[in-house]
Amino acid sequence: MIEVASTRTGTGEKGERARVRRGEDDPVFRQFPMVRTRNIGILAHIDAGKTTTTERILYYTGKTYKVGEVDEGTAVMDWMPQERERGITITSAATSCLWKDHWINIIDTPGHVDFTVEVERSLRVLDGAVAIFEAVAGVQPQTEAVWRQANRYGVPRVCFVNKMDRVGADFFRTVRMVRERLGANAVPIQVPWGSEDSFCGVVDLIEMRALRWPEEGLGETFEVLPVPPELLPLAREWRGRLFEALAEVDDHLLAMFVEGEEPAPEELRRALRQATLKMQVFPVLAGASLKNKGVQPLLDAIVAYLPSPLDMPSVRGMNPGNGKTEERSPEDSEPLTALAFKVMSDPYVGRLTYLRIYSGTLAAGRAVLNASRSKKERVSRVLRMHADYREDVEAAFSGDIVAVVGLKQTFTGDTLTDPSYPIILEPPSFPEPVISVAIEPKSAADQDKLSDALRKLAEEDPTFKVRVDDETGQTVISGMGELHLEVLVDRLMRDFGVEARVGRPQVAYRETVRRAVRGVEGKYIRQTGGRGQYGHVVLDVEPAAAGTGLAFESRIAGGVIPKEFIPAIEAGVREAMETGVLAGYPVVDLKVTLTDGSYHEVDSSDIAFKIAGSVALKEAVKRADPILLEPVMEVEVVTPDEYMGEVLQDLTGRRGRIESIDVAAGGGREIRALVPLAEMFGYATDLRSRTQGRASYVMRFHSYQEAPPAVTEEILARSRPADR
Ligand code: GDP
Repeated sequence: MIEVASTRTGTGEKGERARVRRGEDDPVFRQFPMVRTRNIGILAHIDAGKTTTTERILYYTGKTYKVGEVDEGTAVMDWMPQERERGITITSAATSCLWKDHWINIIDTPGHVDFTVEVERSLRVLDGAVAIFEAVAGVQPQTEAVWRQANRYGVPRVCFVNKMDRVGADFFRTVRMVRERLGANAVPIQVPWGSEDSFCGVVDLIEMRALRWPEEGLGETFEVLPVPPELLPLAREWRGRLFEALAEVDDHLLAMFVEGEEPAPEELRRALRQATLKMQVFPVLAGASLKNKGVQPLLDAIVAYLPSPLDMPSVRGMNPGNGKTEERSPEDSEPLTALAFKVMSDPYVGRLTYLRIYSGTLAAGRAVLNASRSKKERVSRVLRMHADYREDVEAAFSGDIVAVVGLKQTFTGDTLTDPSYPIILEPPSFPEPVISVAIEPKSAADQDKLSDALRKLAEEDPTFKVRVDDETGQTVISGMGELHLEVLVDRLMRDFGVEARVGRPQVAYRETVRRAVRGVEGKYIRQTGGRGQYGHVVLDVEPAAAGTGLAFESRIAGGVIPKEFIPAIEAGVREAMETGVLAGYPVVDLKVTLTDGSYHEVDSSDIAFKIAGSVALKEAVKRADPILLEPVMEVEVVTPDEYMGEVLQDLTGRRGRIESIDVAAGGGREIRALVPLAEMFGYATDLRSRTQGRASYVMRFHSYQEAPPAVTEEILARSRPADR
């Protein structure tokens, strides 16, 4: 039995005394009250310095709270070997550290857009974020993509302008870009002290003092000095702007502003915290992580301005018992509600599931309900992850982020709850994979090992899919981009010891319909002696919004078809949608309404109705003007001016539609275009040779769009005739 007691302390710190008792003399206390917990992510363009900054954070926090040995020489966040080689962070590891009596969980997010799913799932579970910008390049295309995702999830952010030591660094230009390009109210709370070679620290505009780091050593200590006279006018100007920005959103500061009173630091901090939480203001700091400058004030800002779990609204979800919406507030005394946001197979402990706990407590050894799948599970261990080592804890509490061992049937996006109080939280949304390759083991003996490994990888990553082609018997894997698949194939060898050969990447086309059809019948009736089969349905099928997949509704009234057969009909529809009528690609974005049908007392069965549903759907799609959809990518190219014509011409030749041409921050032009994925294979090499390697590009999935007739014809000619 677990007993939870939660009381407020005199200071109003909720959850300070929360206690989980496992047996009479075995109390477990929560280490930190929620108000002193931060769950944050670090969002950045690849190469902006996320890894370096995270390492410094872990180093400085490790200095104040020696929980274990942090290896100073290596990137402790990126523990997968291929991440180090490629220099990108792929997995979303959660790392815990302690800063000035605050517990900070850092949820790692990747900078590469092929891995947007990792960003999405991190954004779903974190409360606030640090956005890192590069002082030379400013706002880069990928930062923009991630920034927009963070807006969608309502994540408050502080901004860190990194690499202030580099030639061409410009703090104020970067701030301007954040304001203009991202439309965010970015407000400096520091101004840099020096720039490029001379960058040595910052002026703290709230306290009006200067901080200077030594050139030597790892920057653990720094000097706190009066603002140097030459910086005073600049600092006064920007403190004035900070005050003004806060006066716009805070009545108390507005009154002081009107009266001409100078606000005290704590006044500014209070208003800044409120404004940051509401995303009215994004505080901006400056630093150079590699040079060990400016990271401690960033930690202070995380603690001072980013939300604690208590600042977050109660989570909402659906009670699977009655379909009603329910809420859970962030309290230890509430029933357990947790979201699984990452599943990893770990070489040491096996299956590791990362959880965000929204309410209640979770003790090791406890039985929980996977409400999303109605499965009972047992949590055998609760682990706190410190990047390169783990710490067993007896329990985790509301607002926490931990990894657990023992869950066998829980997947990314599932909700775990107290068995008596089930609720299903909305899972994070994942894009559909757009690119596929056939894969086979190098030696036939490895076939089983390969299937097993692929299944495990697909469990970890909802944007990675595996299927066996019915016609060819080939195993086909699909993902979000060439790099995504490359990394997964790499992991097959490293983590699972399976060497595999892959084919040429193929575009993952889809099919859908253009018009609505009504009253399409599907029957499966066999009545020749003995017990027969009887299924009969009538469907309406119409186009649905992009991203819908299938919206199925039953309008059966008066028991024309008994309720128990309806799930079988939906299953039949779903199955039929896996293979389209045009070229056998999956059919998406349909609204299907079951309007009528009939049944037979004896002969009707699930299987008969399933087949009837499937027959009706195929027929309806054929009549509803089916079309082929192709994935279209958003491509952003930054190129020196002299190659612009060439780059544009090439993009147009690839059926690209140019959306905009801007002046790039670091010089040159930035071209944005929408280009079908089918035309983008080999682009990296082409672009390099056309521009002497001086242009760069990023590409991310934009949408599925109708393929032009010529393309459709070619694909239909290539593909097998679908089972019509
Ligand atoms: P990530 O891809 O965002 O994780 O970026 P990294 O932390 O790996 O940094 C990318 C590159 O920028 C590395 O070569 C770092 O050494 C370098 N870097 C990071 N921070 C700074 C900085 O403050 N100043 C300079 N000059 N280089 C930096």
